[in-house]
Amino acid sequence: MNLFNVYPLFNINPVKAQGSFLWDDKGEQYLDFYGGHAVISIGHNHPHYHAKLKEQLEKISFYSNSVQNELQTELAEKLGKLSGYEDYNLFLCNSGAEANENALKLASFHNGKSKVLYFSGSFHGRTSAAVSVTDNPKIVAPVNFSERFIKSDWNDIEQLEKTFEVLGNEISSVIIEGIQGVGGIMIPTVEFLSKIKELCDQYNTVLILDEVQSGYGRSGYFFAHQEFGIEPDIITTAKGMGNGFPVGGVLIHPKFQASNGLLGTTFGGNHLACAASIAVLDVMKEENLIDNAQQMGEYIENEIKDLPHIKSIRRKGLMIGIELDRDCSEVRKSLLYDHHIFTGNSNDKSVLRILPALTIRKEETDLFINALKIVLEKI
Ligand code: PMP
Repeated sequence: MNLFNVYPLFNINPVKAQGSFLWDDKGEQYLDFYGGHAVISIGHNHPHYHAKLKEQLEKISFYSNSVQNELQTELAEKLGKLSGYEDYNLFLCNSGAEANENALKLASFHNGKSKVLYFSGSFHGRTSAAVSVTDNPKIVAPVNFSERFIKSDWNDIEQLEKTFEVLGNEISSVIIEGIQGVGGIMIPTVEFLSKIKELCDQYNTVLILDEVQSGYGRSGYFFAHQEFGIEPDIITTAKGMGNGFPVGGVLIHPKFQASNGLLGTTFGGNHLACAASIAVLDVMKEENLIDNAQQMGEYIENEIKDLPHIKSIRRKGLMIGIELDRDCSEVRKSLLYDHHIFTGNSNDKSVLRILPALTIRKEETDLFINALKIVLEKI
């Protein structure tokens, strides 16, 4: 059987990883400045994470939603403390798309409305509802044809107000990323987010903050929206939550009723996923990784901002979009093949996206900075 290949592939086969580095099957070393698309939060194969997962594997990994699993409670408590959302309830699942799918469903059950408002440039996953609120030129009708899903322009307050004026009573939820990642590191204005919150409150619309990519300390805050002092009704998370182990979470305001059977998934909250997620939170706290994300992000920006061919830098913490005066794909290829550094692209072809582990050290950022300098100066 062949694979149903859905992604374009580089001809590199990483077989081992440690900290910020990967090694391929030929023993070549690579610096990972993309973290498997923001998945690596505390660095590859962190000793504490490794030990906790191994210890759990030797004890029990049992899938059942009808018996107690104390690791779930420990995870919820620790996540509540570190994120500041102690009074919210946690539903555990396995991916970002699944978290969003559940959030949209919960919102509809809560207020009995069916329409969902999303924004230009958004990415929320590839399951049916999640893809319908995703603005991806590659994924168009017939998937997201439904009149249930309404697109409004990013950071456009006037359009938002007009849409609510006409349809507000039918809009069940608004879904928005803390910072748009796939869209090219697009940061919402505080006025835009505040207006969304105000309209949601006015129209009994559920505000869903998708922090799948921007959450878990990446932005220099636990969740990116926290910089703006906005409190959503539902927050979704995944990626960095498991540092490579598949896990997703939905943080739910206590006003939502937990009804039997509405949400559920076989693997959600299994012992191994919980052990991985707890280890991530422990390391984040122990090693002050949110502060490190702030500092290292600032350092990188300062060091590269005057390089040639850079039009602008859009950044919060270690979520960095480098806008070039051209398509970034040749720069990305040169960084990978000539300098052995993994970086990412985005839907905006001119934006090079970098998402290093939150454990990144200054010496490692210098490797990237020097390589980028060489590549850009050669153009
Ligand atoms: N939301 C956002 C903001 C994302 O960036 C992604 C993944 N790129 C998803 C949701 C989907 O997550 P997953 O691939 O785990 O389903």
